[in-house]
Amino acid sequence: IVILGIETSCDETSAAVVRNGREVLSNVVSSQIESHKRFGGVVPEIASRHHVEQITYILEEALSNAAVTFQDIDAVAVTEGPGLVGALLIGVNAAKALAYAHDIPLVGVHHIAGHIYANHLVEELTFPLLTLVVSGGHTELVYMEGHGSFEVIGETRDDAVGEAYDKVARTLGLPYPGGPHIDRLAHEGEATIELPRAWLGPESYDFSFSGLKSAVINTLHNAKQRGEELLPENVAASFQESVIEVLVGKTMRAAEEKQVQRVLLAGGVAANKGLRRALKEACDKKGLSLTIPTLEYCTDNAAMIASAGTILYQSGRRSGDRLNGQPGLLLK
Ligand code: ATP
Ligand code: MG
Ligand code: FE
Repeated sequence: IVILGIETSCDETSAAVVRNGREVLSNVVSSQIESHKRFGGVVPEIASRHHVEQITYILEEALSNAAVTFQDIDAVAVTEGPGLVGALLIGVNAAKALAYAHDIPLVGVHHIAGHIYANHLVEELTFPLLTLVVSGGHTELVYMEGHGSFEVIGETRDDAVGEAYDKVARTLGLPYPGGPHIDRLAHEGEATIELPRAWLGPESYDFSFSGLKSAVINTLHNAKQRGEELLPENVAASFQESVIEVLVGKTMRAAEEKQVQRVLLAGGVAANKGLRRALKEACDKKGLSLTIPTLEYCTDNAAMIASAGTILYQSGRRSGDRLNGQPGLLLK
């Protein structure tokens, strides 16, 4: 089975061709980061315009890099949500047009299902499993009993991890997106600053990062008032330590309660070196298998959408010509 994947939910325009759900024949990603940098975040209107400009070229490149034509494509898989509605619609409409013109099936994919299936590109998934999803807009623990079945057992009550990283980075005067910069700084500093851990009660699998974010901002502000200079690398290390401790702690407790043998890490923040290492150590200690996507498949890309799309296609999912962009689509 050969699937063409399309992803335009945020600020990456991407198309990919994947064979049998695991073999990436091509994956073309055009990032708009440079255009959004001066605004310190993604501007929806600018994102949509970029997608419109890029999508045709990206699709052509994906097909030509994979050395396939539409004759070889079994279905088109596209991110239908969640995301920015104007951005989603560019991908959805491109996919609908292609599916109609070439008379091939259309499969709508949840963006976070895509992030989870980035792991399927690394290793054949075995069930039951637990995924820690950490991205720009999501922080969730997702339990899966089989392919295509998603049970969200915990999620953030306020900011997503990636969002907290980007806001803390902004306060430190680092460029957007700040996650990778904080990660790099954290390794140069020491966690000397006391910051809170948001456990939210011993039973909870939910997350909260806005309190931590405010604590960092207040600490910086108070130090400045006193005329002290805090080392940014120590701020980064302290922030990262708090984030990782809570993420890893809750993941391990959920893995134990749900009795899974396999843990996955997914989403843009899965690129974080400190988190990758800490989760690996914790899983090794408990004898659990851990899968983490390779770096290029952590942030948004269409190969992960094609991979998840393949599984849905095989289970009979067909979206038809009424497919629409759904900014608030739930994972289930
Ligand atoms: P969502 O997937 O929830 O819709 P999104 O697609 O915008 O959100 P992703 O592309 O999955 O998010 O991830 C982007 C986020 O990952 C940004 O917040 C970015 O700062 C963060 N990020 C990327 N690399 C790192 C890193 N090394 N450490 C921490 N955060 C990182
Ligand atoms: Mg992005
Ligand atoms: Fe994403």
